[in-house]
Amino acid sequence: MASVVIVEDEQRIRELMARALADRGFDVESASTAMDGLQAVVHGSPDLVILDMGLPDLDGRELLKMIRAVSEVPVIVATARGEDRDMVSALNAGADDYVVKPFSVDQLEARVNAVLRRAKTNGGTHPLVVGALEVDPGARRARLAGMPLDLSPKEFDLLRYLAERQGEVVSRRELLAEVWRQPYGGSEKTVDVHLSWLRRKLGESASEPRYVETVFGVGVRLVEPTE
Ligand code: CA
Repeated sequence: MASVVIVEDEQRIRELMARALADRGFDVESASTAMDGLQAVVHGSPDLVILDMGLPDLDGRELLKMIRAVSEVPVIVATARGEDRDMVSALNAGADDYVVKPFSVDQLEARVNAVLRRAKTNGGTHPLVVGALEVDPGARRARLAGMPLDLSPKEFDLLRYLAERQGEVVSRRELLAEVWRQPYGGSEKTVDVHLSWLRRKLGESASEPRYVETVFGVGVRLVEPTE
């Protein structure tokens, strides 16, 4: 039985979600403030967190960062309609998916199941090694020649996605869909910007690539440097 922590300050929505997920066999714990939510995540080690962005004591994004600092748990954020900026910044801060209010119980359940399925298939926590580069998905840390890399959550997700497919060419569209969770829309420029930041941290550039190789017109791949 999968366990879910719901952090939502509106009682009606919180109870509706809790009841719906409990009816579908989930073990549900709910919290009405960010601080109670953080406690529940730290002590309960849930399989999934549903996080409202508008909480009374702390911005949902801040709570997400605090959760990410201590846990890899999949997080679905709930935002109000029209607050796209919230949603984008939550995804950039490490959320796995989102729902826009008002959402139906079926919609929520579909997202929950999809995220849990993804978490299971991505569950490998063995460090991935590409040349002198080591990516540890469990600890969300990467090192180059033994030196820790200071990566943002998105840069880490991007590097991890490429490292899991080393040698394979991955398109920008695929990266938008899988790393940014934007299967429709989204800008490939976003991918390019993050790739260039990642390259800088790996001590390389597009004109002098080492690990991140561009395959013109197709995408990028992570390779072991040749020298
Ligand atoms: Ca709220």
